[in-house]
Amino acid sequence: MKPTHIEHIGIAVKSLDEAIPFYEKVLGLECYAIEEVADQKVKTAFFMVGQTKIELLESTDPEGPIGKFIEKKGQGIHHIAFAQENVNDALKQAEENGVQLIDRTSRKGAEGLNIGFLHPKSTFGVLMEFCGK
Ligand code: ZN
Repeated sequence: MKPTHIEHIGIAVKSLDEAIPFYEKVLGLECYAIEEVADQKVKTAFFMVGQTKIELLESTDPEGPIGKFIEKKGQGIHHIAFAQENVNDALKQAEENGVQLIDRTSRKGAEGLNIGFLHPKSTFGVLMEFCGK
């Protein structure tokens, strides 16, 4: 159940239109996809850095998870996603190790991938996601 790599880092921003030019012009990365995930009330923008993606998250609803996050903590790193061969098996194993889960089974996230979150109470304050096909 060892993760193969960091699949992506999720970063909450107020505006994709404002943040994307920074990643493109200053960091020289290319935004290769913009996708709305209605379920999570976010619009996402993706950049590839080696094997790892940067996932910018803009809230589409102030009551959604990213809207609330920015309201409470401001813009910044929101979560880290570990690539897992089997997300459900990885979630189950985490639960067996006493970890509090946000998702007991995987759901569909951006790019059609299976995702599941671990509760930051159980992970030393970091919202962690397992992510895979
Ligand atoms: Zn994510």
